[in-house]
Parts: sequence; structure tokens; C-alpha cells
Amino acid sequence: MSGIIVPQANPGAGYRAHQREIDAAISRVLDSGWYILGQEGRAFEAEFAAWLGAGTAVGCGNGTDAIALALRGLGIGAGCTVVTVSHTAVATVAAIESTGATPLLIDIEPDHYTMDPAELARVLVEPPSGLPPIRAVVPVHLYGQVADVEVIGTLCRRHGIALIEDCAQAHGAKRNGRMAGTFGDAASFSFYPTKNLGALGDGGAVVARDPALAARIAALRQYGWTRHYISDAVGVNSRLDELQAAILRVKLRHLDAANARRRAIAGEYDAVLGSRAPRQRRGSEHVYHLYVVRVPDRDRTQARLRENGIGSGVHYPVPVHLQPAYAGRVMLGPARCVETERAAAEILSLPLYPELTDEQVARVCAAIGWLAG
Ligand SMILES: *Cc1c(COP(=O)(O)O)cnc(C)c1O
Repeated sequence: MSGIIVPQANPGAGYRAHQREIDAAISRVLDSGWYILGQEGRAFEAEFAAWLGAGTAVGCGNGTDAIALALRGLGIGAGCTVVTVSHTAVATVAAIESTGATPLLIDIEPDHYTMDPAELARVLVEPPSGLPPIRAVVPVHLYGQVADVEVIGTLCRRHGIALIEDCAQAHGAKRNGRMAGTFGDAASFSFYPTKNLGALGDGGAVVARDPALAARIAALRQYGWTRHYISDAVGVNSRLDELQAAILRVKLRHLDAANARRRAIAGEYDAVLGSRAPRQRRGSEHVYHLYVVRVPDRDRTQARLRENGIGSGVHYPVPVHLQPAYAGRVMLGPARCVETERAAAEILSLPLYPELTDEQVARVCAAIGWLAG
């Protein structure tokens, strides 16, 4: 976009920051003659699980497939309801429907933009009529902040249903010292280029607590093969390729530093914005995949930022239940997603990625002072 000096996201900068290491990794794969499901993928899976500190990781094609594979691996599909939020990337809901399951969309806590556990408790005790039984809950750790996952996990255990964490925006986020992706039966990650851990193409992973579940998912990602060319289950094709795995191994080594830089930049914005700064849940470590503020007149604010050379984004402008493909068809919880609709009208994502220079951060800080509350 013309005149934008500080874009909202910049995956190219993430490549250039580690260009020598990434180029070497790419050459290594090209020279190896092995491009799909090989030693880079296996090494990345082991390193990613070690970094998380729990579970078994299975690479796959993208973060949407990761959610669907986790559900399929748990035996969830047609005849099951899966509870999630409407305030998320449409991918979360698309993944649930791709398994044949029915999504039930509930509202968010307005300060944290994540699943409201009180409404979850309500629908588990008294499910809306006409739905198949609820078999799983998919909270989304949106913008880099962990949902109220301890309370949600307690509810899931009490009702005997599966918990799958959508961690596409929360690589490295913590709740009371524990990593996002280690609370549920399974967790899904996306490595889309702009995510906190981003490939240079598509990629994803499922992390499963139970190694037997991980083995089922590993088979499902490749036609259900458990032995060569023998399908014991009906699977899909969703593999993490060797180039992306090798690139992700480089990026993973720099992820903690990148998240620390995101948090430092967020701290500078917080200091300028005062009470308008995004809320961090007490006891949580936010990793600021996105830095989201609420503004009364978003169009005017975006125009004003643009005049100062600053890009911004909206994640997401239309809740899933109001999108043409879902409106009037998808089931809503009793709170009718009122907070979701309110948030969608007001949220604005400011530039935030680890490679922002101090000068760029200062430029944003100078331009957002008038938003302070
Ligand atoms: C990015 C994202 C996904 C989907 O990941 P893809 O790799 O694009 O398929 C799912 N859920 C959330 C919350 C996301 O941000």
C-alpha cells in the first residue's frame, strides 16, 4: 500500500531477520532429494513438542486441518456438536464443519476476547434443543492470549467431553506458567507466515497429550495409512513438507526472543494508551500475535493512522455467524454473541511484529497518543 511506512504485519521481515540460516536450511532440503515427511519434519515435531514441554506433535498442512485432524482423531464428526466462539478466524468453524460435526457458537468475555466460560457452563448443563450431543469444546487463544482454559478444562472433565485448544495465535502464550497447547486433549497450531511461529508457506501441527491419539492423527493426515499403502481408517492428505519443516526449525530457535520483543513493543504501546490498552488476563503471559485496541470511530482512526504512514487491520470485521456462508444457519448460544458483535465493530489491530525497529515503534507511539483513555 502506498505511503505505508509501518505495515500492520511484515512476514518478509521475519525471513530477512534470519535469512542466512533459512537459506542454508532450504539448500539442505533441496540437496537431500526428500521433500515430504522425512527427517526435517520428524526433527521439527520432536523439537516443537520439546519446546512446548508436553505432548506429541504431528505436522500437517495448515492450522485449519490441524483442528479437523484433532477432532477426527478423537472420533468426533457427524452426530456430534462442538462448541467454539464466533469471534475467531472463520477457519475454526470451517474445520469443525469439515468433520461433519455441528458447531455451536458462544460469546466472548469482552475484556479478553476469548470464550466466556459462564456461557459454556450454561450450554453444557442445558444444551440448546435440536442439537446432537456436545462432544468437544474448542476455545481459541485469540490475539496471543490464553482463554480461561483452566475453568473450561474443569467443565470439560466434569461433562466428559474433549478439549481442543486452537493455538493458531498463541505459540508460547502461558497461563499460570503453563504453555498454551498443554491444557487440552489436543491442541492445533498454524504456521501461516504472519503467525508468531510462521513458515514461508502453509504449515500446521496437532499436539496430542496421548501418544496413541498422536499416532491416529499421524495416520489420518496421510490417507489413514498405518503401514505403507494400507489405509486402516479414512484419512485426508494434509502433510507438512520438508522445506517448511526445515524453515520452522530455524524460526523455532528464535521464537522465545521474538515473543519477548512482541511483549516489549506491546509494553510501549500500553504506556501510551493507558486505560485504552488491551487487558492481559491476571496470571497470563500474552504473546501479542495481534495488538488490538477498541476505537469508537474505526474508519476515521484507520484513515488518521494511514496519513501518518501506519498500517492497521481488523481481526475480524464480521463474526462467523454473520458471514454469508454461515448466517441464519449456524447455531448460537443463549447469549446470542452480543459481545462478539460489539467487539467486531470496534476492534483495530496496530502494527506488531518482532522486526519493528525502535524508530517504527516510536512513530506508532507518536500517532496513537490521541487514542489514550
Ligand atoms: C490462522 C488461524 C487458523 C487457521 O490456520 P491456517 O494455517 O490459515 O489454516 C485457525 N484459527 C485461528 C484462530 C487462526 O488465527
